[in-house]
Amino acid sequence: MKVRAYISTVWGCPYEGDVDPLRALEIARDLARWGAYQISLGDTIGVGTPLQTQRICQLFLAEFAQEQLALHLHDTRGTALANVLVGLDAGIRTFDASVGGLGGCPYAPGASGNLSTEDLVYLLHGMGLETGVDLEKLIEAGAVAERVVGRKLPGKVHQAGLPKRRT
Ligand SMILES: [Zn+2]
Repeated sequence: MKVRAYISTVWGCPYEGDVDPLRALEIARDLARWGAYQISLGDTIGVGTPLQTQRICQLFLAEFAQEQLALHLHDTRGTALANVLVGLDAGIRTFDASVGGLGGCPYAPGASGNLSTEDLVYLLHGMGLETGVDLEKLIEAGAVAERVVGRKLPGKVHQAGLPKRRT
């Protein structure tokens, strides 16, 4: 069984505030040693900004291969996609997201839902990158998810839909 391990609050912690990424790196070393094929680094409360993300990626990529790392970003303060771009630039190709931006976190006060999958896929497709995801069907899935949870989901593409194409 392949196991991806998660380290939460690498960019900042709702209880302790600033986090030294070296502490997360030590944990990542242990997780890799115990057999995790990939380590997902979490900005659990969505405080990360691009330069910080660049520093974290550089720190981890000095010891791990690009395919051993994933980013788990929240858009709480509107910086998730900017941080995705930094991660892409560093060579990371695994990003967590949830349809419509569904989610939240029971142990991290103030955490909003994940980066919306529709927003992520829209960005990646716009850059000519392949995801294997049908964005129109994903948007339909977002509408279903919204009906199921019975509240408005925060994703931008989920709310705005796809732009009209020139005919
Ligand atoms: Zn999360």
